[in-house]
Amino acid sequence: MKLRLDRLLTLYLASPGKQILGSASKSVPILMYHSVSDHDESEVHPYYRTSTSPQAFSEQMQFLKNQGYSSCSLDVALDHLKNDAAADKKLVVITFDDGYADFYKYAFPVLRQNGHSATMFLPTAYVGDSPLQFKDEDCLTWQQVRELSRYGISFGSHTVTHPWLVEMNVNQIDDELAISKKTIEDQLGIHVESFAYPYAFPQTDAEFKNMLKDSLLRAGYRNGVCTVVGRADPDSDPLFLERLPANSDDDPTLFAAKLAGAYDWISTAQQISKTVKSRLHGAKNQAKFNFNKELPTVQRPS
Ligand SMILES: [Zn+2]
Repeated sequence: MKLRLDRLLTLYLASPGKQILGSASKSVPILMYHSVSDHDESEVHPYYRTSTSPQAFSEQMQFLKNQGYSSCSLDVALDHLKNDAAADKKLVVITFDDGYADFYKYAFPVLRQNGHSATMFLPTAYVGDSPLQFKDEDCLTWQQVRELSRYGISFGSHTVTHPWLVEMNVNQIDDELAISKKTIEDQLGIHVESFAYPYAFPQTDAEFKNMLKDSLLRAGYRNGVCTVVGRADPDSDPLFLERLPANSDDDPTLFAAKLAGAYDWISTAQQISKTVKSRLHGAKNQAKFNFNKELPTVQRPS
């Protein structure tokens, strides 16, 4: 059994604190899913797992419905954060990265059953007219993407090739952002305005963040998400909104605590960990430590 410092601190320190202090400002939880499948991730620490079993996903979606959450797109969530009139509304954004085909088979029927919408971020090089694979898993086809779009699923860009953007020059980044956006727009005949940063987000690299922001705005994006953990609030950068990673290990207690903001402390741990590492090794090398991880590093016991 792997020790889960993140779970322990969330449930026994952060949660009671939140209940006593209350939620200081308006916020929207944005859930981050990857695969909905029964993949065995027992060798991976629960914090880094990216699969959610169909059973756990179904329970989580029912939980949201039972708790009165209404799911929405990123632009609606951002409007809500800017607009004081709707402060009491319980909104949630449900996002998926990587375009896996198991979304079509397992996630979409459950979303529909529970009346939820969702946003899927596609790495467009891995979406074809017949199934292509990303990380050894089948991805959606364009026909499935079009069908899901007709049923109200939103689509955003997750770049073309899912690269480590921090290692690219500005022209390469412009291409990854613009070509993926245009490809989805051509396939669906709609405007694409949302972007999800692939791999762990280099949140302490201000120079890179500014460069990426300019590139996103040049390409015509209006909102986006990243891997920084937390809930989005009025101070969040609309292009790099925080998310709450979810997986099979999110039992109702932990899931509820994350939604209520008790997991937001992780972003501080991420920031400290990254600052220390970038001072020791330089920002670019620090980024490589997380090369294969979709989630950023937090300080935790090994
Ligand atoms: Zn990804």
